[in-house]
Amino acid sequence: MQYKSFLIKYAEIGVKGKNRYVFEDALVTNIRHSLKRVDGDFEVAKESGRIYATAQSDYDFDEVVEALKCIFGIAAICPMVQVEDLGYEDLKKQVLSYVDEFYEEKSFTFKVNTRRGNKKYPVNSEQINRDLGEVILHTFPETKVDVHKPEVMLHVEVRNKINIYSHIIPGPGGMPVGTNGKAMLLLSGGIDSPVAGYMIAKRGVRIDAVYFHAPPYTSDRAKQKVVDLAKLVSRYSGAIRLHIVNFTDIQLYIYEKCPHEELTIIMRRYMMRIAERLAAESGAQALITGESIGQVASQTMQSLAATDASATIPVFRPVIGFDKQEIVHLSEKIGTYETSVLPFEDCCTIFVAKHPVTKPVLKLIERSEENLSEKIDELLETAINTVEKVWC
Ligand code: ATP
Ligand code: MG
Repeated sequence: MQYKSFLIKYAEIGVKGKNRYVFEDALVTNIRHSLKRVDGDFEVAKESGRIYATAQSDYDFDEVVEALKCIFGIAAICPMVQVEDLGYEDLKKQVLSYVDEFYEEKSFTFKVNTRRGNKKYPVNSEQINRDLGEVILHTFPETKVDVHKPEVMLHVEVRNKINIYSHIIPGPGGMPVGTNGKAMLLLSGGIDSPVAGYMIAKRGVRIDAVYFHAPPYTSDRAKQKVVDLAKLVSRYSGAIRLHIVNFTDIQLYIYEKCPHEELTIIMRRYMMRIAERLAAESGAQALITGESIGQVASQTMQSLAATDASATIPVFRPVIGFDKQEIVHLSEKIGTYETSVLPFEDCCTIFVAKHPVTKPVLKLIERSEENLSEKIDELLETAINTVEKVWC
């Protein structure tokens, strides 16, 4: 026997006052969108503080649950049976057949938890709990009641129709993507930036991404890896428009004109400037990076400050206080780790100095950047005008 419907619970968005509808509608849209990509047809509907996804055809349970587990805003996924209200005796029958169908092995402890949304229902919740408990015990004598730590918590929600469920699968939490603006993710091929994108998308922010590619120093395979990472993040964030910037000439020019120990920091400042321009074009209000304090020379407090100074819009660094191991853990959980560790070169590693500055002084960095005045504006324009955009 297969569940036909899912009750989808949402947490944070439930408390949004008047905005609540905006959040609910976004969640419904995102669920519909995501379920279009699985086998089977679903009807997704909102009904008094609840979202239901109901199968209109056969479907693969695991595939659907996996898809729902990626949708931000969902607190819990409850596969359920929904029955018409055909009277109290019928409810007892329905509950018994639920237990019979979904629990092959009946030697479990249980508790019935009824919520009566329909206050006109002739029996109150306490009484329903007792009566249903009794018929279950009577019909399946191997079961036992345990009101403190039941193995099976049988939920019965009496509304216009009656929902019966006992499996609660945790969702990812967060807020529905699209309800909190858009940001531009600086997506490299590493471990950190896909995680950073995931974390900001989790707050309801739509994501665009930019990758700085430096052919022939970075290969097509390195680029493909970033496309693949964007696709993996898009399972959670919805489609990502990836901007691929050809960064080679800018990097070579910096290499030619600036002190080598400052290369990384100056390069990062130009990445920020280009990302900000692309953000403005695509309506993104902030930048996102995968930086974490002290992880490498370009992520000391002073380096971060120098990088920050090149941007005029907010820069979000959601993994700023994470240890590498914590970031790795999250990347494994969201499924980007294996792709991130594929050994393709990154444009930063090629031009990196042996002894990069770890405490850059902004004034000195700005002075070095003056060496670029002759050609840098033109190179920036070319880089921005030749961006390749890929939907991932
Ligand atoms: P990651 O694991 O995300 O690559 P990292 O530890 O390698 O990070 P850096 O190379 O110093 O760190 O980069 C810091 C951040 O700068 C990255 O998290 C990313 O947001 C951005 N970044 C670095 N290189 C690129 C690139 N080639 N294209 C786009 N963004 C980049
Ligand atoms: Mg990197």
